[in-house]
Amino acid sequence: MSYSETHKEVKYLSQTSKIINQAKKEGRKALLEPEAKTICMDYGICVTKFKVAVNEKEAVHCAEEIGYPVVLKIVSPDIIHKSDVGGVMVNLNKPAEVTDAYKKIMENVKKYNAKAKIVGVLVQEMARQSTEVIVGAVKDPQFGQTVMFGLGGIFVEILKDINFKIAPFTRDDARDMITGLKSYPLLKGYRNTPPADIDALIGILFATSRLIMDHPEIKELDLNPVMVYRKGAKTVDARIILE
Ligand code: ADP
Ligand code: MG
Repeated sequence: MSYSETHKEVKYLSQTSKIINQAKKEGRKALLEPEAKTICMDYGICVTKFKVAVNEKEAVHCAEEIGYPVVLKIVSPDIIHKSDVGGVMVNLNKPAEVTDAYKKIMENVKKYNAKAKIVGVLVQEMARQSTEVIVGAVKDPQFGQTVMFGLGGIFVEILKDINFKIAPFTRDDARDMITGLKSYPLLKGYRNTPPADIDALIGILFATSRLIMDHPEIKELDLNPVMVYRKGAKTVDARIILE
């Protein structure tokens, strides 16, 4: 391994460890979305561009830097399911929409839990709509760290078309997890659905396996959804729960 590669590796791991240690110190089990996404980035998992804003003006500034359209989301250690409380506003196209969304999110969150600790609002790039997949990780009491993969929506929730693999695993194993799904033909391309970038998905599954093996204090991980494109894939929401 060259110097730059080892150097990069050291920087990578320290960022993830730092976030996990900080959360532990604060007694938090659920990482915030920006924290979970930073960890994803450490492991080469592509996520939507994001910045945290603490007021409306800053949110507009962030939106301008990221580029419209943007999505705003609540960042609070007390709110895990953000859209359930009206904490997610998508497809914001201009400054006035960003300020309105900021106010609305704060209003919704306060209505839900007046005592919720609010870190700020996450301003992020709006990912182009595409086929949605879900990547998860759990600690099975018998088999240990396990990664799961499936297509979003009805495929996971109703048809239970999900594949599991015990970590650590190889890229070939990751490919099997994908091609072994009943819904795999949808990823290969179907009518007006373009073929999905299978290699990008293999990369995400392999990286997830590495991440949970490097950091056994991760109890649960949830990349839901991940948009998969003809070229590349992008994680839109990331959740990590510590033990
Ligand atoms: P939660 O799961 O905590 O309710 P998400 O971050 O998953 O919140 O947001 C809810 C939904 O909003 C997502 O499933 C997705 O459909 C949409 N969404 C969220 N962020 C983006 C984004 N950056 N680009 C496009 N759609 C998004
Ligand atoms: Mg989600």
